[in-house]
Amino acid sequence: MGMNRLTWHHTGGGYVPNAIDLAAYHGVIDGDGGFVQGLHQIEANAPGQAMRPGAYAAHTARLNTGNIGISVASMAGGKWADPRASRAFPKPEQIDALMNNSARLCVAYGIAPDPRFTLTHAEVEPTLGVKQRQKWDFDYPVGFVKTNTRDPVAIGNELRQELAYRIKHMANRPAPIAPATAPRPILRQGSHGNDVRLLQAKLGLEADGIFGPETRAAVAAYQKRTNLLPDGVVGTMTWDNLLGADQ
Ligand SMILES: [Zn+2]
Repeated sequence: MGMNRLTWHHTGGGYVPNAIDLAAYHGVIDGDGGFVQGLHQIEANAPGQAMRPGAYAAHTARLNTGNIGISVASMAGGKWADPRASRAFPKPEQIDALMNNSARLCVAYGIAPDPRFTLTHAEVEPTLGVKQRQKWDFDYPVGFVKTNTRDPVAIGNELRQELAYRIKHMANRPAPIAPATAPRPILRQGSHGNDVRLLQAKLGLEADGIFGPETRAAVAAYQKRTNLLPDGVVGTMTWDNLLGADQ
C-alpha cells in the first residue's frame, strides 16, 4: 500500500511489450488492450522501500517512490513532429484499457483523479516541476481525446475526466475490485484448456475447454453488460470481474 501516484507512459516500442518494458513499468497495455503485469510488484515502489537499482520499476526520473507506472505498448519509430507516423500508434482500445486499469488501480490504492496524482509523463515537468528529459508521452491526442493541441495538461485533463467517470462507475459495483493475486492468462478465440473451462463455467456455457466463436460472443456480451470494452478477449479486467463476481 502507500502508493499515491499513477503515471501514464508510452513504451516507444511495438504493440508487444518486451523485457525492458516489463522491467520499467508495473504494467503494460499490449496491442490487444490486454494488461501485461510488469516484472516488479507495485509495492516495490512503495515509500520506505530501499529502491535499489533493478529492484523497482524506474519509469519516471526522480519520481518513482509511491508512483505506479503504466505504459501503452506503442510509439515505435515515433517522431515528435509527426506522432501519427509511428508504426505502432496507440490504438483506441489500448487507451480504453489504460483507463479501465487506471480506474481499478486508483480504487485499489485510493489515488484521486487529480493532476498532481494521476498524470501523463509529459505532465510531470509542467505540473510538478520535476525535470524530465523531453518526455512527450502523451502530448499528442490518443484514443477518445479530442484536444487537438500538443498541450499535455489539456490532454491529461481529458484523460482524468474519463478516469473519474470510470472510478465513479467502479465504486458503484457490488464486487470489490482488487488486483487478481494469481495472474490469469489472456484468453481469446483459439485458446483452449482448463482456464477456458473455468471461463466457460463462469459464463454458464458448456465447459469444453475450446474458445470458439460461441465463447467469444458470450465474452463480448458479458463485457458489454459489465461496461468493459466488448472485444471478446479475456484480459485482466474481465478476469477480475468474472472471478470477483462470486465473492
Ligand atoms: Zn514515460
